[in-house]
Amino acid sequence: MSVIRQVKLELTNELRTAQPVLRMAATPENNMPKVYVRKIGRQSIEEAVMKFLDEIRYTPAKNKIFIKPNICGFYKPDSPCIVNPKVVGGIIEYLKKIKITDITVGESPIPSDVNKVFEVTGYRRMAKKYNVALLDLNKAKKAAVSLPDFNLFLPKFLLEKECEYINVSKIKTHIQTAVSLCVKNQKGLLDFPGKRNMHITGDLHENIRLLSEKIQPDFCIVDGTNALEGFGPGATGTEVKNLGLIVMGRDMYAVDRTCCRIMGINPDLVKHLRNDTDRCEVDGLTHVQIKKSFFFPKVKCFRKLKFHMWITDKTCSGCSNLMGELKKEAFRNFKLFRKILKFTLLQRLDILSGNSCLPPRHGRVILLGNCMKGAAEKNKLCFIAGCPPTADKLIEAILKLDGDDKPI
Ligand code: SF4
Repeated sequence: MSVIRQVKLELTNELRTAQPVLRMAATPENNMPKVYVRKIGRQSIEEAVMKFLDEIRYTPAKNKIFIKPNICGFYKPDSPCIVNPKVVGGIIEYLKKIKITDITVGESPIPSDVNKVFEVTGYRRMAKKYNVALLDLNKAKKAAVSLPDFNLFLPKFLLEKECEYINVSKIKTHIQTAVSLCVKNQKGLLDFPGKRNMHITGDLHENIRLLSEKIQPDFCIVDGTNALEGFGPGATGTEVKNLGLIVMGRDMYAVDRTCCRIMGINPDLVKHLRNDTDRCEVDGLTHVQIKKSFFFPKVKCFRKLKFHMWITDKTCSGCSNLMGELKKEAFRNFKLFRKILKFTLLQRLDILSGNSCLPPRHGRVILLGNCMKGAAEKNKLCFIAGCPPTADKLIEAILKLDGDDKPI
């Protein structure tokens, strides 16, 4: 076995087998955060979520509610990449049952056509059904908070604690941050320049952690109706069907670390969740009872045979999301499908983003986005400008690649 393979195997084993620290007995005196893990049975998702919230007697401290689901792009309502609008529907039904009607659902997805994102993901229909407001967070008034290397601009109404903030995330693995749960979901409170800064200035994982010090939700809910493993957070990941779980709690870190355990991932190896303990009381199913083992990519390269997409921590969603767009478009556009098939089976293609280095062995090369401009000028390689570049330009570049397979 090669040394690299051996190291990878050891890392994988470490990630899987590290055991949680011993939990203290759950008594009211020890004041440990509580995490509720529930399985959805035969009931509808809305009914189940409503019942779980009722069962734990969730009582918001304010009469005004802001719900932030993870809706990262153009995905179908039941896609494993986004929070199912039925989960949010269940939360709203519960809130209305306890006579709370001032409810806003908001997100700032990466694609600039936010209206279309709300339409495609089913959120427009859901908001209409329950008569709640739908907010494009990009348009919300912002206030600055400072991080060591740059300023973040967060929704003012959240910083001023005008409402109860409910963070609703999805159970997903993430090629850069290992998992995308509630702590990571908060990145969606930022506009595109803010999200981009989290990647290109300082350390991504530390920035996510610092963001969670600046703003915390009052309550967290994780949609595990289905989930995403592998090359998440977008369409390049693989769906885990019928997981049928809902995880809830007030402590964002406790909820995330419990979800990691459920996924079979050691939370101490998730950089933005490190340095936190497993001190929480789990109410309901434990990770031992659920026993999942999510596939978690070690190398930051989305690879299918000869097709390679390289990313680094500096690659923000503006570029990484294009892989998902490409995959979806390939199923609609036969010419593109044929070309991608060729670069998967016969000829190697390397698409580089962030500040990726040119791999020593490579095939045809496309440098994606302004972050790669320096490398493009130095090496005179095919370059797609833009920050973010558009999926159309990437597709056009792939279609134009000729059959010459000599390394550049
Ligand atoms: S070029 Fe791409 S990876 Fe770089 S900041 Fe712009 S969108 Fe993000």
